[in-house]
Amino acid sequence: MLNRFRLEFPSRPENVALARVTVAAFAAQLDPTVDELNDLKGAVSEAVANAIVHGYGNAPDGIVTVEGILYGDAIEVRVEDSGKGMEDVTRAMEPEFSTDPERLGLGFSFMQSFMDNVEVESSPDRGTRVIMRKQFARRH
Ligand code: ATP
Ligand code: MG
Repeated sequence: MLNRFRLEFPSRPENVALARVTVAAFAAQLDPTVDELNDLKGAVSEAVANAIVHGYGNAPDGIVTVEGILYGDAIEVRVEDSGKGMEDVTRAMEPEFSTDPERLGLGFSFMQSFMDNVEVESSPDRGTRVIMRKQFARRH
């Protein structure tokens, strides 16, 4: 069986750090470089922050799920919420697009630059799933 984990927590901002550290600890078994680990942590933080801020509108009683799966030297991370979802994912992922004028709209751009691949599935009022993959350099 592939190595994997699943973590579930309420949509409280302090849990962004929990998700980030959990994914990093799980990925550590692939012996990543510091840069690879920082990229992974950055991407997880952006996705989880989006679930909390946009998915649940900062309400603390939503459930966010984070899953990690290892495939050889690659990791797949899934971040899921059952919040408000998005009408137009393509538009939402454009650099500097935000529904909040106080934000930069760069979260998805960061995820895409930190990871090899980012897929987003979303439907209005049902929720959002972000699936991200990263291949680590083979160093052993
Ligand atoms: P920043 O990440 O720079 O603070 P941002 O969160 O607005 O700003 P992105 O992370 O790129 O920018 O997200 C773009 C837009 O996509 C958001 O403004 C929001 O409308 C929508 N969005 C992102 N994630 C979710 C989500 N989990 N649920 C609902 N809408 C989302
Ligand atoms: Mg964001």
